[in-house]
Amino acid sequence: MKVLVAVKRVIDYNVKIRVKADKTGVETANVKMSMNPFDEIAVEEAIRMKEAGKATEVIAFSAGPTQCQETIRTALAMGADRGVHVVTDGELQPLAVAKLLKAVADKEQPGLIIVGKQAIDDDSNQTGQMVAALLGWSQGTFANKIDVADGSVTVKREVDGGLENVKLKLPAVITTDLRLNEPRYASLPNIMKAKKKPIDQHKPEDLGVDVAPRLKTLKVEEPAGRKAGIKVKTVAELVEKLRNEAGVI
Ligand code: AMP
Repeated sequence: MKVLVAVKRVIDYNVKIRVKADKTGVETANVKMSMNPFDEIAVEEAIRMKEAGKATEVIAFSAGPTQCQETIRTALAMGADRGVHVVTDGELQPLAVAKLLKAVADKEQPGLIIVGKQAIDDDSNQTGQMVAALLGWSQGTFANKIDVADGSVTVKREVDGGLENVKLKLPAVITTDLRLNEPRYASLPNIMKAKKKPIDQHKPEDLGVDVAPRLKTLKVEEPAGRKAGIKVKTVAELVEKLRNEAGVI
């Protein structure tokens, strides 16, 4: 079984995000970029499936500008076998990515597609669900544990009330949650080996996908700054403020 894993290049989670002066988006010039953390978890899970003999090949997919190759190389250095890069410079919304993933899945015929539950830049939490719908495949979102058996996969999902187990028929789409695993660091020899692994390049047109945005961003703004707190002298004063100012008791 082939496993297709999506890896998105996003602003590194340690970077303090700055909104552009014209409010059209956030600053990305000279900002450290990394693989979306949930996608590191997806790559790790796919590699573990290969190590356990449950997957035959792990393919890392990324869509975006030339620099996405670095993100794919990171996945290859962790242990993925080869990459697929859909090269496009414009804004990519989840529906466009889902269509590209579907087109690649139609060619590659993976048994599983694993994506992150959300990208930490747009926080959409849509791509996995959309690609499952476009392919007509089962989906197991927010995976906390995955067990692949013959022809099916059991996914323990993180839901509001706790954990839920679902059994899906393969092929299926899974989205990863934080506690699924701890991704490995790539070793230096594996980083060197990854340089020789193949990355296929496609343009959206080659795959017959129109990636034009369907949604328009009107304005991006910083959240309102937090007001300074105050110190209360007594419990009675605290209770009074909670009751009459905050209105929470
Ligand atoms: P989102 O729906 O945008 O929150 O993204 C959910 C997941 O879809 C991410 O964690 C990635 O696995 C995948 N994804 C989204 N955009 C891209 C992209 N441009 N390239 C590769 N994978 C992506």
